[in-house]
This record gives sequence, structure tokens and C-alpha cells, in this order.
Amino acid sequence: MATATATLRKMFIDGKWCAADGGRTLEVINPANEEVLAEIAYGGRAETRRALEAAHKAMQSWMKLTSWDRGKIIKKIADIMRDKADAIARTLTLEQGKPLAEAKAEILHSADTFEWFAEEGKRAYGQVIPHGAPGKRHMTLKHPVGVVGAISPWNFPITLQARKIAPALAAGCTIVSKPASQTPLCLIQLFEFMAEAGVPVGVVNLVMGPAQEIADEFLENPICRKISFTGSTEVGKQLMKGCADQMKRVSLELGGHAPFIVFPDADPEVVAKAAVIGKFRNNGQVCIAPSRFYVHKDVHKKFTEVAVETAKNLKLGNGLEPGIEIGPMFEKKAMESTSVLIEDAKKTGAKVLTGGKRSDRFEKGYFFEPTVLSNLSAEAKIMTEEPFAPVMPLLDFSKLEDVIQQANKTRYGLAAYVFTNDLTVTWKMAEGLEAGIIGINEPVPAVPQCPFGGMKESGLGRELGHDGLEAYLETKYIALRLRE
Ligand code: NAP
Repeated sequence: MATATATLRKMFIDGKWCAADGGRTLEVINPANEEVLAEIAYGGRAETRRALEAAHKAMQSWMKLTSWDRGKIIKKIADIMRDKADAIARTLTLEQGKPLAEAKAEILHSADTFEWFAEEGKRAYGQVIPHGAPGKRHMTLKHPVGVVGAISPWNFPITLQARKIAPALAAGCTIVSKPASQTPLCLIQLFEFMAEAGVPVGVVNLVMGPAQEIADEFLENPICRKISFTGSTEVGKQLMKGCADQMKRVSLELGGHAPFIVFPDADPEVVAKAAVIGKFRNNGQVCIAPSRFYVHKDVHKKFTEVAVETAKNLKLGNGLEPGIEIGPMFEKKAMESTSVLIEDAKKTGAKVLTGGKRSDRFEKGYFFEPTVLSNLSAEAKIMTEEPFAPVMPLLDFSKLEDVIQQANKTRYGLAAYVFTNDLTVTWKMAEGLEAGIIGINEPVPAVPQCPFGGMKESGLGRELGHDGLEAYLETKYIALRLRE
């Protein structure tokens, strides 16, 4: 239980740290030892309404600053994040579970995202369009979309808010952020940094509370002009329907089920090691994590041996300890649903090559053994449901056309991975795969300057890159008639 002296971590509304109106609070749990880390203020609609109103008021002056002046403040956020990366990374590990080195990488990637958008805001170009009649002129201007409601999940609590806050601020929008209820603490620290960087009062606001209440206020309050959501496909669909009423803009970054395809010319030993890194990063709780491994028959045996050996030797433990490569899963429910998926796969004929259960080395904490499966049947749920778990299902193939067909047999289309040194194979795969992000010999593809997002039921729109800025801009067409 939280001690009576534990400091309450508060929401940030209109430049002030606030408790919930009714005094409601929620405990945040450390997944490595199941202890209470902190208590947070847990508000609802009324607090969200005030945050939207503050953001609306603040936008009148924020949007009038030049992109250069906004850029200076956004760049300062990046500088502070880098200076304080160790402290915020520690908080991230404590509340989310990922190893400290991964947590620090997340903070530095997010700082890069702020820096990149600080610059890209200066490139919100309109166009001058050639006229077709002598007395007419045509041009477009870019205009900030308005106040944004931003909702994110627990797996990358800083990165996924940075991908919304940084471009929104660069475009001249103001924002109300809602973190996942289980991982709000590092985002609270980011809000402290933003205040320190000189972000004006009301431009950024943080609300915490039941998701439905906050989302209802975002959807029904006309002040909120855009919802940017990262999370499950199911919630994304609900929000998209809700946005239709007031025709709110919506960006959706949703689930995935990425294929990882290894051709026979690739070195199976090197690729198996890369595959293990890509799969077990953050315990497989990554939207772009590879979920189905198609390995060519000629290299399947060697790949399997190395993948199993490497996965077996990954160091599992509390992410704060040195040398740990995999932390706990983020909650008990996630561990239980992983066991259910594995048991289902076994019933349909799958073999467990390593792992397969909760680790018995720990008395407390949600530690699950890195798992490798073979002999998967198409009926196994793990072949179609997003696993979000440390489980690596191995399959084989012999023909390029067949593997493209298998890879695309999913409602998702977020990421795909191909390992080959053959240029023709590379090109055919890049053209044939239905995925918004394709890593060729690259297991970790996300960078701030390139578009990130999915096809099919993996989402709508793109974050990062210039597209990530456009998502916060409207295009105004200006038609000018000259005097005779
Ligand atoms: P989730 O249940 O959809 O939750 C994500 C966020 O939405 C949380 O802040 C949650 O709040 C909130 N939420 C829950 N129910 C809601 C509702 N009815 N209306 C509005 N907001 C609601 O997702 P999750 O299972 O925690 O997260 C994992 C999912 O996110 C996976 O599918 C993963 O692939 C996806 N993801 C996608 C990307 C990408 O960039 N494409 C990146 C990371 C993760 P509470 O925490 O308060 O419940």
C-alpha cells in the first residue's frame, strides 16, 4: 500500500499542478516487485474540460508565435530531457519494467523527436499555384488544426506522447495529454521539464483518470478539434466512430502482427541474433514487434538452433539491475494472456523449444520466460491475434510468392521485416508486403525523421517525419482576384 506520507503525483492543468476535484487517487504498481510506487491524482470529465479550456485560451497566443520562436522552446525540452535522461529513465523502468538501458534509449529517442520537430515546424510550407486566368492568383497556407486530445498506452509512455506533443507544438496547436493509467509517472516528469523549458501556461496539459470519462470529454467538447490516439485497434475504432459526430480530425496508431522473413542468402546465425533482439525488446510488448517468423527451409535449422540458444540465455530480472536484458511484463493480466496463447498453440500442435511459462526464479513480479515455439498451425490464435508477449513462433517457407501471401494474411499492416542481400528479392518484398513500415535487414526501424504508421486495421495517418507535422495542420486555399 502507498504510505500516508507518499507524495501525491498531480495533473498539470493551466500551468498548475492539481489534485482531482473529488480527491480520487490511483496507485501505480512496480511490475518487478508488485509494490506501490506512488499515488496519482485521478480526475475525470470536469478536469479534462478545464484542461481543454486552458488549451483553447493559450492557443490564441501560441499559434501567433513564429515557428522559430516555438522551435526554440521545443528544442529546450529536448536539451532538458538529455540532461536528466538518467533520472527519467529510472522512473520509466520502475513503473513499466523495461531494462534501464532500453528506458534510457526511449528517453533519448524522444528527445531527438522534440529536436527534430523544433526544426520541422519551420517547414510548414504552403504553395503558390500557377493561375489559369490573368486576374487570378492561388495559394495555400498551413493553419494549426486546433486543440488536441492525445491518448497513449503504457509500453512506450514517453516516446508515444513525444510523437504527439512535439509536432502539435511545432504546428502551433495546444494539447491535453492522457497517459495510460499504469504508467503516468515519467510523463509527469516530462511535464515538469516542459514547464522548465518555458512552454507558456495552458499550452500543454496533463490529465489522468478513467479513460472513458476523459475520452468522452475529448469527443463531446467542441474545443477539442483533433484526437491523436495510440493503443489497441478496438479502442481506436470506437474513437473513430466518436469523432464522426463533430468531424474531429483523428490520427490512429494501432496494433500490429509483423511478419519477419528470412531468405536463404542471409546469414542465419547473424539474423537469428537480430531476431531475438527485435522480438524480446520490451518483452515483445511493442506494436512493431515481429510476431511470426518465416524462415526459408534451407536455413531454418541453423536459425532455430541459434534463436533458441540466444533466447534461453537472455538475462531476465529487475530492469534496474546491471546486465538485465529482459524485465518483467508490465502487468499480471499480460502474463496470464501470454500463458493462454501458448496453451492454445500447444493444443493445435505447437512445440515449446524454450520457455513457455512464468519464471519460477522470482517470488514477486511478472517475469515470463522468453519463449520460442515451432510447429505452428494456422488455427493457433497466436497466428492472428496480436500477442504483445515474449513469444517467438517459428515457421518455414520455400517460395517468395507464398511467403508474401502468408505475411499479408492478417487484418493488421503495421510493420514487416525482411532479411536478404538480394536486390531483386528486396524490391519484390518492399512492393508486395502490406505494411506501413518495412525493415530490410533492420530489426529496429523507427527514427524521428521518417513516417511511422500502419495500413489496414493498424491505423490511420502517420506520426514522425514531415507527415507527422502535417497531421496537425489544415490546408487553407487562398483565392485572390487582382484589381483590373
Ligand atoms: P488500450 O487498451 O487501447 O489503451 C491505450 C490507451 O487508451 C490508454 O491510455 C488507455 O487508458 C486508453 N483507453 C482505454 N480504453 C479507452 C476508451 N474506451 N476510450 C479512450 N481511451 C481508452 O491499449 P493497450 O492494450 O493498453 O496498449 C497496447 C496496444 O497499443 C497494442 O495493440 C499495441 O499494438 C498498440 N500500440 C500501437 C503503437 C503504434 O504506434 N501503432 C504503439 C504502441 C502500442 P487506461 O490506461 O486508463 O485504460
